[in-house]
Amino acid sequence: MKATFPHLAHLDIALGVLYPTLGVEIIPPPAISKKTIEIGVKLAPQNACFPLKVTLGNFLEGIEMGADTVFMAGGVGPCRFGYYGQVQKLIIEDMGYDVRFVLLDHPRYGWKQFLDAIKIMMGGRFSLVRAKRAATLAWQILRFTEELENSRRSLRCQVEDTHTLDTTIDRTLEQLRSVDHMGKLVRIRDQAREALREIPRQKQERMIRVGIVGEVYIAQEKRINFNIDRLLGDLGVYVDNSVSTVEYILHTLPFVRSQEKLEAWKLAKPYLNRFVGGEGIDSVGSTVRYAQWGFDGVIHLYPFTCMPEVVAKGIMNQVGKDHDLPILHLAIDEHAGEAGLVTRVEAFVDVLERRRKMGRKTLEAVGR
Ligand code: SF4
Repeated sequence: MKATFPHLAHLDIALGVLYPTLGVEIIPPPAISKKTIEIGVKLAPQNACFPLKVTLGNFLEGIEMGADTVFMAGGVGPCRFGYYGQVQKLIIEDMGYDVRFVLLDHPRYGWKQFLDAIKIMMGGRFSLVRAKRAATLAWQILRFTEELENSRRSLRCQVEDTHTLDTTIDRTLEQLRSVDHMGKLVRIRDQAREALREIPRQKQERMIRVGIVGEVYIAQEKRINFNIDRLLGDLGVYVDNSVSTVEYILHTLPFVRSQEKLEAWKLAKPYLNRFVGGEGIDSVGSTVRYAQWGFDGVIHLYPFTCMPEVVAKGIMNQVGKDHDLPILHLAIDEHAGEAGLVTRVEAFVDVLERRRKMGRKTLEAVGR
């Protein structure tokens, strides 16, 4: 078996450690590029969600490189995520590829199906001890990749030399690919934390603080969101991203719940108290949280036509009015252009700076 899978943030680093330990050969797809998007857009239904198109492109590029199996997580409604894997499977079959499609659905849809998928993903042998050891290491690696990216987005506006910041983090991410035991991970982690602490900081006044909310794929995948964290950091903005791949995965596992997500859902309750699919409630709750933390603004990232985020968008505008918090909504799909996004983000930051100088007057200042 040679398996490929979709890209999402640094999932490929964690899976690259997990699968060889389980004796499964993996073929990670090439990094997401214009070509990946073109393949997905050409083959997927026109009105399919943008993440479906990009991940389909990942699969086909992986298959072209020799993969004979595709690993994909199943989704739940009420939005289109419930159909994702099935649609992608049919498209790949229609193209005449003889590929096994392993869909890992939540066990609530059947424990047998879930355990069968896990067994295939573990190379046909189900050993709880083996799985636990390998999964624990991969999980800690994934957590640390997220810690590194959080450091990158929060430190970018603070350090004197962003090049040193990037090289320290990128070098550490590369080192993580060769981790084969916990001791090595701890060593790399300690060294990286120390190196980040030592990067000289600039003297500055209170920074503009922006929170990111939205759909997990667009908010986490910087090759798709035009690296908006970097853009904001270079404009001198402190960035916090409420969307986390780790929390997202945690919440889809049986018997566990992401405390962070539950907390966001609680904050969203006065505005939205039912599950609308995807990260709709999280976007509302996290916006409330950023308002409570005194952030200067919120950027909402989502795929164009994403039903849960369109629902959230209207509600978030009310949150923004109630808390005097400017919100920039950015819908991204295959037609989105970097120049347009940069202009809108720069204008937004400009407005936040003016509001700061004026003592955070009214939302009229941002044209709402
Ligand atoms: S959350 Fe949005 S992008 Fe994701 S499957 Fe649902 S509708 Fe599509």
